[in-house]
Amino acid sequence: MSGIYLHIPFCKQACSYCDFYFVTRTSEREHFVQRLIEDIESYRDSKFTDETVETIYFGGGTPSLLEPAQLEQIMEALYDIFDIDAREITLEMNPDDVSGQFLADLKSLGISRASMGVQSFEPELLEFMHRAHSSEEALQCLELLSASDFDSFTVDLIYGNPGQSVEQLKSDVKKLLAFDPPHISAYSLTIEPKTRLGKQVELGRIAPPEDDKVAKHFDIINQLFSSHGIERYEVSNYSMPGKEAIHNSNYWKHENYLGLGPGAHSFWWDDSAERWENEEDLRKYLRDEDQPEREVLSLKQLAEERLMMGLRTRKGVGIAELSERYDYVLSSRQLDYLENREQEDKLEVDERITLTDEGIKIADAIILDLVTLH
Ligand code: SF4
Repeated sequence: MSGIYLHIPFCKQACSYCDFYFVTRTSEREHFVQRLIEDIESYRDSKFTDETVETIYFGGGTPSLLEPAQLEQIMEALYDIFDIDAREITLEMNPDDVSGQFLADLKSLGISRASMGVQSFEPELLEFMHRAHSSEEALQCLELLSASDFDSFTVDLIYGNPGQSVEQLKSDVKKLLAFDPPHISAYSLTIEPKTRLGKQVELGRIAPPEDDKVAKHFDIINQLFSSHGIERYEVSNYSMPGKEAIHNSNYWKHENYLGLGPGAHSFWWDDSAERWENEEDLRKYLRDEDQPEREVLSLKQLAEERLMMGLRTRKGVGIAELSERYDYVLSSRQLDYLENREQEDKLEVDERITLTDEGIKIADAIILDLVTLH
């Protein structure tokens, strides 16, 4: 089983924190769609069409900037070339693009899951993040979504904004939970160097969010979501039981996926494991000039990745899985380290290694320690 990721690289404007690849000139959308279809068709009868595709993910950028007729052409090409038995087809959208008709059109195309980029309902935070939508549009789109045929949807929320108070955070969460979202991705604001926010921090105009404050926001979110029956199953992902994202969960388990479009990543593990990243350059993509280099990954690299991704999830990583699939046996130094951290209630070890709620806050440090001690 594999997945397909399609990167739709257009946005109306640049959000201040965003580190994804996108362009704000949207005039090349039609050209891009035709090129993407050619790209899909180039995989006919290749090894990538041997496996059944169980998830498709339209990400970006802003996929909701495409017309339903364009999305229909892409879907037709995908079904023509790949063997698709879809359990989940997700499309990312922004509130200012959504209407009842748009959602109905998506549903009739077979899109089963809507991913809505709300981030906040607070006007001043939306402005700070340079989002293209208003607070009213965010509320309106969630009303439309609740009234639509989408029983599976997810909403993105950002916390830990430098100017965000606890009251504002609680108000955002309360407004969101009123719509009973089956799934939420909640991200702490990260400052990436190449973004507008990164530049403002570099110039000393904005102070980055303090760790204590971010940790406090994380606790509030966990507690409020949990009291609503929405539990964390990965550092930034929360869901009602059975509503976990299949596509993203497959990334964390090293399932195969093919990424199409500029900046998309792919991972394929058959005889050997390879990863490649399309160049972040729409012009080159349109001219079919991108020749991404493939990196061959060793079993050790894969094991370390599996530890890194698995420990960020509530299920953790199976010790037997590490040895059987990755030929990775924990060293005595690693076992000692795990025992010490277990005594500090940062993690639990039985047949699996799982981080506790306290451990997850320092997940990156624990993972780094573990990998270094092998
Ligand atoms: S956050 Fe989304 S909408 Fe904003 S610039 Fe990035 S990809 Fe575009």
